[in-house]
Amino acid sequence: MTVDLEALYIDLHRHPELSFQETRTAGVITRHLDALGIEFEEGIGKTGVVGVIRNGDGPVVWLRADMDGLPVREQTGLAYASTARGVDPHGSEVPVMHACGHDMHVAALIGALERLLDAKSEWAGTIVAVFQPAEEYGQGSQAMIADGVLDRFPKPDVVLGQHVTPLAAGTIGVRSGTQMAASDGLTVTLLGRGGHGSRPHSTIDPVVMAAATVMRLQTIVSREVDPRDVAVVTVGAIHAGLKNNIIPAEARLELSLRYPDDKARERVLEKVERIVRAEAEASGAEQQPVIEVLHTLPPTINDIDATARLRLAFDNAFGEDTVIDPGMFTGSEDVSWFARESGAPLVFWFWGGVDPEAFAAATAAETVERDIPTNHSPFFAPVLQPTLDNGVANLVAAAKEFLARP
Ligand code: ZN
Ligand code: ZN
Repeated sequence: MTVDLEALYIDLHRHPELSFQETRTAGVITRHLDALGIEFEEGIGKTGVVGVIRNGDGPVVWLRADMDGLPVREQTGLAYASTARGVDPHGSEVPVMHACGHDMHVAALIGALERLLDAKSEWAGTIVAVFQPAEEYGQGSQAMIADGVLDRFPKPDVVLGQHVTPLAAGTIGVRSGTQMAASDGLTVTLLGRGGHGSRPHSTIDPVVMAAATVMRLQTIVSREVDPRDVAVVTVGAIHAGLKNNIIPAEARLELSLRYPDDKARERVLEKVERIVRAEAEASGAEQQPVIEVLHTLPPTINDIDATARLRLAFDNAFGEDTVIDPGMFTGSEDVSWFARESGAPLVFWFWGGVDPEAFAAATAAETVERDIPTNHSPFFAPVLQPTLDNGVANLVAAAKEFLARP
């Protein structure tokens, strides 16, 4: 049987699901694994799927693909654009889109498994295909680990993963050492005192408190972090009030923080807490703000030796001009928990999904930031080909490098 990968990708793209709700996606995956004769288990870490190909003695290579979509209304205009809707953790109905390209990751991994099955005489060892839920919550890999994924399946000798990204199709970006930032997601609840909009003096207005806090938080990166260091403080959500003439009792901020290492993390978290508490005090708040950590992601650190091997394998397979060092990305990933918990080396790389001519034109015009949609944009969609074929080829070349030759 040959999988129609393009049809599979389009089907996944049309039917994105929010984090920890990837039941249809898991069903599509298990149907394909079943058809390929690959043993698998499902429901790991809620909606995760793990497939195993055993091919004699040799190393155990984990290939990981994440599965979840995002609450974004797709505006790509593609014939196969998503019109899906879902219910987010707050109970709100939201549009859903594969705005991060995880559909491409799933399709590429299934394609790679099929190719590796066909080429069993060329390698020996065990391949563990990890279809991970809820990467966008930063919780999926830990949920799979809590569910025993490292004990129930052969432990990895190396963990490999890839992400589609706004580089030109045909380009691979990989970096030895810190490839992606550490990150924390915080919810900050500012507690005021509600009342009538006409009588502000009888209230403690959390809207004004929130506004002052958001502005002051901007000074962490601009005034307190060494300009030679990297840090990001983003307030991605702000919720308060329901009506113009009611001063609400509280406001909620959702923060996304990024830094290269644990030391920087501690410093930035301390500054956030100091500013949040001080602004509440400045507003005369009678109750301390509540700061909750939604998730914590470690930096994604590529093993030096394994990255050198991978780079060489990619150079040999695709030519030396294919691989670039893209620098550290301020995005974050939860893939590295699999490597951290098992003690295995990790290599995580990026592959381009932008039409090379469009990318070259934007580069020449210096309009890449404006014209090339990034992951999480409502306009983000990789060009189907050659992105999909490249994604398959990357995984096959990488897996073969780390598997034994018979
Ligand atoms: Zn994402
Ligand atoms: Zn992603």
